[in-house]
Formats: sequence, C-alpha cells, structure tokens
Amino acid sequence: MTTKKFRDFRLSEEIFKAIEMLHFENPTDVQERVIPAILNKKDTIIKSQTGSGKTAAFAIPICELIKWDEYKPQVLVVTPTRELASQVKDDIFNIGRFKRIKAVAVFGKSPIESQIKDLNQKTHFVVGTPGRLIDLISKGALDVSNIKYLVLDEADEMLNMGFIEQLKEIIDTIKTDRITTLLSATMPKDIKKLCEDYMKNPKYFDIQNDTNMEARVTQSVYTIENESKINLLEDLLIFENPDTAIIFCNTRKSVDNIVKEFEELNYPFKKLHGGMDQRERTKVMNDFKKGYFRYLVATDVAARGIDIENVTHIFNYDMPIDKDIYVHRIGRTGRVDNKGIAISIVTPKEMKFFNKIQKQLSYNIEVKERPSKYALRKKKIRFTNKIKSKPNLKKTKGAELTKEILKLHINAGKKTKMRPTDVVGAISNIENVNASDIGIINITDVSTFVEILNNKGEYVFEKLQTTPIKGRLRNVSKANN
Ligand code: AMP
Repeated sequence: MTTKKFRDFRLSEEIFKAIEMLHFENPTDVQERVIPAILNKKDTIIKSQTGSGKTAAFAIPICELIKWDEYKPQVLVVTPTRELASQVKDDIFNIGRFKRIKAVAVFGKSPIESQIKDLNQKTHFVVGTPGRLIDLISKGALDVSNIKYLVLDEADEMLNMGFIEQLKEIIDTIKTDRITTLLSATMPKDIKKLCEDYMKNPKYFDIQNDTNMEARVTQSVYTIENESKINLLEDLLIFENPDTAIIFCNTRKSVDNIVKEFEELNYPFKKLHGGMDQRERTKVMNDFKKGYFRYLVATDVAARGIDIENVTHIFNYDMPIDKDIYVHRIGRTGRVDNKGIAISIVTPKEMKFFNKIQKQLSYNIEVKERPSKYALRKKKIRFTNKIKSKPNLKKTKGAELTKEILKLHINAGKKTKMRPTDVVGAISNIENVNASDIGIINITDVSTFVEILNNKGEYVFEKLQTTPIKGRLRNVSKANN
C-alpha cells in the first residue's frame, strides 16, 4: 500500500463516488503507478500479480477518459477465460456506475444471439474471450472502428492457451491510434515480442514481488503416498477447519474423485471444471462468491484472475506443474489486505514439480507433519459443527452501489420505437429529477429497463404511474436486478 490518495488523481466526482462506495480506501501499488500513466494516455505494460488491484488500475482511468455520449464501443478488453471476462465486466460496471458506463461481456459456449443484441445497443466497453470476439468482429456484430483503448488482460495465459494468433488477429482490426494496456503475470518472449510489435513507447511497470506473496499467504506442504491423498485432505480439512476453501486439482478426474468422497461425507461443496456447461460454471462461481457453500473443488479454470472475497484456505490436492500455476492458485487467498493459508499435498511422483517450484521461489515453503490422531480428535467437533452450519453470506461487490439504485421495467421497447431520449425526456420532466439521476437504459424488443440513481427510484416509480412516456401512459414496474 502507498501513501497516495485517490483524491490525488485527476478523476471526476462520479468515479470518486464509486471508489468510495466500493471501499477502496487508498490506491494499491499498481494503481498508484498505472492510473496516472493511463490518464496521460501512455501505452502500459503491467507485470503484476493477481490480487494486486490490477483490474481497477486500468478500469479507473479508462472509465474516466471515455466519452459517455459516443454510441460505438470505445474500449475492448480481451481476457483468456469466460469467468474473468464476466468479472472484469462487473468491475468496470461498478467503477463506472455513476458515470452510467455500459459494459458488455462476450464469450463462447453462450448464445451468440443475445450477445449480438447487446452489441447493437450503445455500449462503452466490450470485454471478451478471443474466439468469440473474432466471431463477432467477422460477423460485423462488433464494430471496432471506434475502439480507442485496448486492454490485453492476463496476456501470458492467453499465450498458454494458444490464443496468440487470435490475439494478433484482433489487434490488427483495431486502429493504431489507440492506447494499449497489457497485463501479464510473467513476461515470456512471445509476449515481449507482442509488446514490441503492437505498442508505442510503452511504460513498463513491474509490480510482481514474491516476498509480498510470502507475507500474504502462509504456505506449507505435506508429503504422502498417492493412495492416502484423499484421507490426508480430509484430515487437513478437519485440522484447519476453513471457513471457505478452494481445493485445486490438475485434472477433471481428480475433481470427480474428491466429489465422490465429499458427497458421501455430506460436505458443503460444489465442483468447477472446464467440462461443465457454461451456465452451470457461472452459477457455481457466483454461488461461491456469495458464500452459499464452503468448499470449491476445481481445476485451474478457477485459478486465473478470479476474485473471491475471504477465501481463507487454498489446497493443492494435486501439485501444480509449475510456479506460475502455483502462484495463481495461492493468489486466490490473501487478496489485497487479507492474509491467507495455502497447503499443498505432494506425492513421491509429484515431488519433482514441488522441487522445481521451491527452487524458483525466493522463500521456503514449510514442510509439515501430518496431524496426529489425537490432534484431529480434539478438533473434530468444531469441524462438524462448522460444516453443518450455514456459512456467513458475503456481500457482492457492488451491493452498496446497488442500494441506492432501482431498476424499472417499462412495458414498451424497440417494436414501439422507444428510444433512450424518450425515457430520459419523460423522467427528467418529473419534478426534482434530472438526467444525472438516470442510470443505464437498456431497450429490448418489447421492454425497456432503466436505472434510477441517488435513492430516487421509489419516487420516480410512483410518478411514472401517472406520467406518459412517448405520448402514452405505460405499464411501469420494478425490475429484478
Ligand atoms: P484484482 O487484482 O484486480 O483481481 O483485484 C483484487 C481485489 O482487490 C478485488 O476484489 C478488488 O475489488 C479489490 N481492490 C482493488 N483495488 C482496491 C483498493 N484500492 N483497495 C481495496 N481493494 C481493492
């Protein structure tokens, strides 16, 4: 953390207000360095570890810089995974809320038609995964002619996933008169080359720092024979009694083995891996973020960039094969100001991976002895009570922001030629309400959704019962958020 304050940056009140309501007290290191650079319209390369506040480091200045009244998208953010795309979109939405910034997330394995509909409306940001972005660009559904800000998030992961050529294809469609931001946890040579080829005198920020991870996350390792792995995991869960944990596996099969065991034990868990249908994946991730269950058993689809508050423990049920994966996984705990615990289980076969990782770290991971039967007996009751009890629900990120916003549904849409100006006109004619009280407007074929800000929702809702919109009284109700 730094001594600089957000108020030291040249930002507008709408952005300050969102930062305050998100409880970001002071800028993190990466934010202190990157926000001014982007505000000064510099290309930036950010080598930063996960959990450092890197999303807000680019989202804050770009939300500040974009022009609200332009119709075509101005910002394109490319991310390696669908989960990260939705999360980045949500972060942008929260930061840009009072500036009424619209962001759309697009990714594969989800219906393209509804994404095309979203893109037909005014939007400021588009966040997406490479394959789907190319699809949408080539179909003419995503107009990139006005993109002025390009963000490549988790670039090294896009490289690992084989997206480098697609990434170049996307960059080539964007005009060169743009500001490019690249974020990466590591800087392999292909990424360096990408920066050389596609960026203009970029400013380089290296925020990565192992010792920080050492301070944030207490790390230990247990060695065990393969056959006893699952028993050791169960013992460690009893011994550590985590409030919330992610149990990482290298393969889906390994996830399924744990699932079988946990089902028998009635543990409060869900699984997550790439073989699951996208809707289910999103649901599991959202439920975990809200604190509906305690243990997430997952492959590395959950390791990258995903931000979940207060995960107290990370277990490496299978040892990751390299240091980057290890760092990404354990980075799911100990985020920003919290401390976390990461425990790895290593079989003789996996020892070579562990040794390699240990060599590359600048600190030692403590090797621990399996807890004794006596120690486990002493802890068992507390553990059983906890897994039977309901976890504390977590507030979702934008909850506080949402409190003073009410979304209304108007029973008329494009088919009846409803336009945003009709809605703004009617609402801002209501006494004591003006355009700055109106948030995002979304018009579909037969419906219009409009957000009313500043705690004026109930009042506007009442007034619209007797106020015509586009010449007629409309059926107006409160929409579910
Ligand atoms: P990221 O590294 O972008 O995944 O962010 C990690 C977490 O830090 C997210 O939950 C952010 O909402 C949170 N965060 C970002 N900036 C700040 C800040 N200045 N103060 C406190 N939390 C922050």
